[in-house]
Amino acid sequence: MIVFDLLCSGGHRFEGWFGSAADFSSQKERRLLSCPSCGSVSVERVPSASRVNFGAPEPKALPAKPQQPQPTPEMQGKDPFAIAQMLYSRMLDEMLTKSEDVGKQFPAEARKIFYQEAPARPIRGEATQQEHDELAEEGIPVLRLPVPPRLN
Ligand SMILES: [Zn+2]
Repeated sequence: MIVFDLLCSGGHRFEGWFGSAADFSSQKERRLLSCPSCGSVSVERVPSASRVNFGAPEPKALPAKPQQPQPTPEMQGKDPFAIAQMLYSRMLDEMLTKSEDVGKQFPAEARKIFYQEAPARPIRGEATQQEHDELAEEGIPVLRLPVPPRLN
């Protein structure tokens, strides 16, 4: 089906649906076409700006999809526990490689940093359970790692 914009002799504009352009001509010749407003059978096709096709439709902007974390290939097929372990291990590596190893001076150094007597920096080292508890009681943020500090 095609739609033609039609204009009668009385100036009424209306739409007509036809099987083809030939169908329109045939109905017009047999005076089967008439204006719905005035009944005039003097009807002409008029160009319809609204149906002019300028070619390919404009690409419509797709709605943005929510970003989902993409699993890296090495994570694919692994169970969440293994992935968590891998991420944890990486985090440890990061902390170990970016922190200064102060060894057994850790409790003293952590205190100095906390009280701003030493430059703030990530440090790692050793502390006994008692030293750790003392630091914690003073409100000094320390994190116990379930791995021995790595020595480079
Ligand atoms: Zn009319």
